[in-house]
Amino acid sequence: MKTILVTGGAGFIGTHLCEFLLNEGNRVICMDNLYSGSFSNIEYLLSHPDFRFIKHDITEPYDIEVDEIYNLACPASPPFYQQDPVKTFTTSVIGTYNMLKLAKRYRAVLLLTSTSEVYGDPLMHPQKELYWGNVNPVGIRSCYDEGKRGAECLCMDYHRQYGVNVKIIRIFNTYGPYMREDDGRVISNFILQALRGEDITIYGDGSQTRSFQYIDDLISAMTGVMKLTDFTGPVNIGNPVEFTIKELAEIIIRITNSKSKLIYQPLPGDDPKKRKPDISLIMEKLPEWYPSTCLEKGLKKTIEYFSSKKTKLETEILQF
Ligand code: NAD
Ligand code: UDP
Repeated sequence: MKTILVTGGAGFIGTHLCEFLLNEGNRVICMDNLYSGSFSNIEYLLSHPDFRFIKHDITEPYDIEVDEIYNLACPASPPFYQQDPVKTFTTSVIGTYNMLKLAKRYRAVLLLTSTSEVYGDPLMHPQKELYWGNVNPVGIRSCYDEGKRGAECLCMDYHRQYGVNVKIIRIFNTYGPYMREDDGRVISNFILQALRGEDITIYGDGSQTRSFQYIDDLISAMTGVMKLTDFTGPVNIGNPVEFTIKELAEIIIRITNSKSKLIYQPLPGDDPKKRKPDISLIMEKLPEWYPSTCLEKGLKKTIEYFSSKKTKLETEILQF
């Protein structure tokens, strides 16, 4: 039985990961300051004898003996990470530094959840791991992009200088249940707008592209990477099927049978124009893995989640 620390464990990805690791028979410690995560996400895990929640901010050191660390702590949605950019940057860099010190002390393996944002507004398409990126170092997204680049740098230096076993994964746009309703990322925004019959807010002209990965595919790949020996990465994890944002809006309107209309709002600064992962490296390392959930199937599961949350809330209000 391994003892596994999941920082950011009460967030969207963290909740799924904690559940997966518990089901595998591990002892799981979820550490989170609840900045963008929710206690309600992990409440159902509290009765599990091998689950523990620690409310802690990873920019402060913490001493605990563990075998593995999944370092997820960091807000991931642009509105959340831009709300307190200094905190975002220090969480990525100082938080990762604190976790690397822990990994070194207890010879634990540390997996960093880096991001496709390290490629910035990419000039190489699709993006391969060898591409160094096109990042604005002083823009409104740089607290996140440069924070993650700094975290990758620290991981590699701890690996080369102290022999710490690190793994770096670069996650491309991932979605699914347990996203916050006010998260602000495109899939949760569009689904909620469609379900409520509100206007769908397209930023820019909607011609920018993203490639969307369903959460289950990410969890199987990231836990697979943790199990690999002699592999550091960085490695892309994502679904390579690319959609324009306008296409995404139209698909969501169709599946939800919504009467919502598209409206166009200004494009935020430094918004990447194109994004699509080259996944040949992860497929070579994990030959069994493939992002098997297509967008339509993943969207249906996510829509079901948000619809049932809405129904639950309405019932509670009626009972009140
Ligand atoms: P999220 O915002 O739902 O989860 C992040 C969690 O980290 C939250 O629970 C938050 O409260 C916690 N946190 C933030 N700052 C903290 C701090 N200083 N100390 C302790 N906890 C802190 O986001 P997510 O989508 O679940 O992303 C998880 C990780 O995956 C992040 O590191 C993110 O950069 C990375 N990632 C996600 C995506 C994606 O599409 N979801 C893409 C690329 C990378
Ligand atoms: N976006 C949009 N409407 C929204 C939210 C986002 O058009 O309500 C766009 C956003 O400008 C970006 C894309 O959708 O081009 C993906 O945005 P998200 O915040 O989900 O992720 P990221 O930009 O970090 O890839």
